[in-house]
Amino acid sequence: MKRGHFIEGCEVASDGGCFEVLDPSTCTVLGEAAQGSEADIDRAVASARQAQPRWWNLPPGDRERILLRCADHLEKHGEELIDTLLGESGSTLSKASFEVNYTPALLRAAAGEARRLYGETFLHDRPDRMSMVVREPVGVVGVISPFNAPLALLVKMVAFPLAAGNTVVAKPSEHTPLVAVHLAQLMHEAGLPSGVFNVVTGFGAETGKRLVEHPDVGGIAFTGSTAVGAIIGAEATRRMKRLQLELGGKNPVIVLADMDPAEAAAEVARGAFFHGGQICMSGSRVIVEASIMEAFTEALVAEAEALKLGDLRDPDTAYGPLICREAIERVDGQVQDSIQAGAQLATGGQVHSGWTYAPTVLVEPPRDSTVWQEETFGPVASVVAVDTLDEAIAAANETAYGLSAAVLTRNMPRALHAARRLRSGAVHLGMHSFQSNTMAPVGGVGASGIGRSGGHYSIEHFTEQKWISLDIGAPPALEFS
Ligand code: NAD
Repeated sequence: MKRGHFIEGCEVASDGGCFEVLDPSTCTVLGEAAQGSEADIDRAVASARQAQPRWWNLPPGDRERILLRCADHLEKHGEELIDTLLGESGSTLSKASFEVNYTPALLRAAAGEARRLYGETFLHDRPDRMSMVVREPVGVVGVISPFNAPLALLVKMVAFPLAAGNTVVAKPSEHTPLVAVHLAQLMHEAGLPSGVFNVVTGFGAETGKRLVEHPDVGGIAFTGSTAVGAIIGAEATRRMKRLQLELGGKNPVIVLADMDPAEAAAEVARGAFFHGGQICMSGSRVIVEASIMEAFTEALVAEAEALKLGDLRDPDTAYGPLICREAIERVDGQVQDSIQAGAQLATGGQVHSGWTYAPTVLVEPPRDSTVWQEETFGPVASVVAVDTLDEAIAAANETAYGLSAAVLTRNMPRALHAARRLRSGAVHLGMHSFQSNTMAPVGGVGASGIGRSGGHYSIEHFTEQKWISLDIGAPPALEFS
């Protein structure tokens, strides 16, 4: 399979050559994607810039209808999209199906926002003036997306800015370029006009960098690692661009002693091991009330050891490979370092096969170890015991990240008090930390990012407010009787 960029409604070859796309489940070459050059980005941005006034000038109901048609069309082509995801992203059938089914829901949620670009009027200091505030699109939005949910995240990052009248140039992860080009082609077939959504594939440090620096790109939506987010954030800020950063997480799950240990362990395992832990909201730090620590850990180990790995198309397979060799090295490095520093390995701690890492449970890693402090992005759950809720909250809040947190308890008033004290963009009560919702404000605090996406929160981010004032003349004189 060989794919080009998608620019101006057509798939085009690059003058920068091609790069190999690997299938992580076989560690072999799956196909080739175009390597975006500076000229490719310039061409895509010019196309988006030209299309933007016409896209914005459409009645909002027309933008809504087109996005709804895109949702229907993607639904019809769901099987093909699943195949692309299985090939390049190492997703299992169930994870790919989840992503493909969620995508039309995101498009439909965004489509509804096209009609809701609400403004304001307010009373002016002078009686002969009236003031209003209208929302307008930023213009061309540059979208840079990660590999781990390469379809759903890209759609989310593209659909809401489009609904608000922006046009988009996207640079997907170099690990998963094929699904992005496939998506742009399907949305064009569904009626999205040429130039409204363009995709340029390539590597971050060249193609992505050029997109961030481009003077005609008014806003950047980035989802990815905190390290890359810091580079992009600095460059975009230097150029005064609208910026949204959805970054890494090291998400805590607090388990209180009123929970049944086996039930809590099953919930924690779902959150920690889904897609091999390659989920920004994966609950990788488990903080357990000491009285149930032993029973809980035993149950979590049993859950981990029961997970089936292997054939991605088998609906019972829990997760597939990590995305690349470097990911395996990073995950194993964190695990081995923490064991050397005193963590107890309860299960896993080694490569299962190829690029698949065995589900791993670590007990009491040092709280300053990398596996506790830094994102692992692999199937590793670390468990520590605490005596009180205060201690649990302190442990939860002790990393630089703040993306998502969870509290497992049956005592909702206690859970709500805990939620208020957790330093996190989201807190989930009675469930694990990886949750999705098309309308919720997703985003983090601290090292987990800036801004929120989803529903009207995305619209606020990718529109500018404009104050318009009118001279309405002096009002007729009215006197008090
Ligand atoms: P990454 O940061 O390595 O890459 C993300 C994107 O940035 C890729 O498209 C890459 O090519 C590009 N890039 C890299 N360097 C660049 C540069 N200098 N300039 C411009 N673009 C550049 O992330 P990844 O490994 O693809 O994804 C995993 C990360 O994404 C994890 O940290 C995960 O937590 C995070 N993530 C966050 C969320 C969220 O909602 N907060 C969601 C999914 C993933």
